[in-house]
This record gives sequence, structure tokens and C-alpha cells, in this order.
Amino acid sequence: MKYRTILLFGAPGAGKGTQGKILGTIPNFFHCACGDVFRSLSAANPLGRVFIEYSSRGQLVPDEPTIELWQQFIESCESSGRFHPETDTLVLDGIPRNVHQAEMLKGTLDVRAIFYLHCTQFDGMVERLQRRALKENRLDDANLEVIRDRLKVYDKETKPLLNYYGRKLVRRIDSTQTPVVVLRDLLTHVSKACK
Ligand code: ADP
Repeated sequence: MKYRTILLFGAPGAGKGTQGKILGTIPNFFHCACGDVFRSLSAANPLGRVFIEYSSRGQLVPDEPTIELWQQFIESCESSGRFHPETDTLVLDGIPRNVHQAEMLKGTLDVRAIFYLHCTQFDGMVERLQRRALKENRLDDANLEVIRDRLKVYDKETKPLLNYYGRKLVRRIDSTQTPVVVLRDLLTHVSKACK
């Protein structure tokens, strides 16, 4: 059985994590942020070290270990009773991150909709990321060069997913609005997509 899935999509700093956490508190929604799965690894874990090596440069972790880690994580959520795929909609944030990952997950995910938090203000995104660097102790957000690289990787590798899944699944939301207005717009779309 494939997981019924909605994707939170958008550039780093667009607000996917903030909105995803809120959606995850609603019954029958299970939020999973791939970056959080990586950050929960200890530095003693070999993949934890690979993660630090890539993320500190603003690059994506290679696809095979990423998908393997994610599959293990979601299966453990299922077996521990945190995620109930029969009744829950999976809210994915940060995965798949490129077309190859989407292909690898084709047999696992039934993607029903993509919520694209669209941000045109480059400066606003950078500012948000730098604020987060201090608050959440994120090395990858602290340095302007790394932020620029991360935004380039997003444009080149992640954005093509919009075409891969097809425009019909994409719902665009203006992420420059306040978080509460973004949430209102998101809930309007989600309630239609998941009824
Ligand atoms: P952001 O949305 O701000 O880029 P994330 O927490 O989603 O932050 O990701 C932080 C870092 O974790 C990424 O820059 C990348 O190195 C790694 N990462 C997260 N998800 C993936 C993924 N699906 N594939 C490869 N690398 C990933």
C-alpha cells in the first residue's frame, strides 16, 4: 500500500517547517521533515557525519543513503504506532528533493497534492534563514555563501519536481504573507485535497 501523501514544497526559508509542524498537530496528518530526520542522527553515526559534511556546504546528501534513512524512519514510525498509513495523510517536507529521489519513492508515495510556498523576496528568505541559524543552531543557515549555494541547489535540482509531478497537483501559496495567512490558505487547499 502506498502512503497517501501531500508535499510541502518551496525554497529553504519559505516556511515549510513552520506550516508542516502545525499541520502535523491535526488529527490524521503526520508531518515528516527529512532535515529533522538527519539532524536527529548522532555525530557518531557515519551517516550523521556525511550529513554534516554535505549540509554545511549547502549540498544535498547523496540520494541512496537519504532514501534508505527515510524509509527506515517512516517504517519505525509505523511500527511504533506514531504513523497510521490507513488513516493518516503523510505531510512531507524536504523529501523528495530531486527527480531521482521522486523516482526512488514512486512505489512508496501516492502524491495527492503539492503545496508550493512561493517566495519572490530573496532578501526576506535570507533574513529568515539567518534568524533561524541563531535560534536553532543551524550551521547551514549561518553563512551567506552557504545560503546562496542552497538556493542554487533548490533552483537546479528541486524545482524540476514541479514539472515531474505535473502542474495539476500544484497549489501555489504566497509565502510572503504572515504565517497565519499562509496557514489559512494552506488549510483551504488541504481541506479540499484531503476530503
Ligand atoms: P532547508 O529547507 O532549509 O533546506 P532542511 O532541514 O530541509 O532545510 O535540509 C537541511 C539539509 O539537509 C539540506 O541542505 C541537505 O544537506 C540535507 N537534506 C535534507 N533533506 C534532504 C534530501 N531529501 N536529500 C538530500 N539531502 C537532504
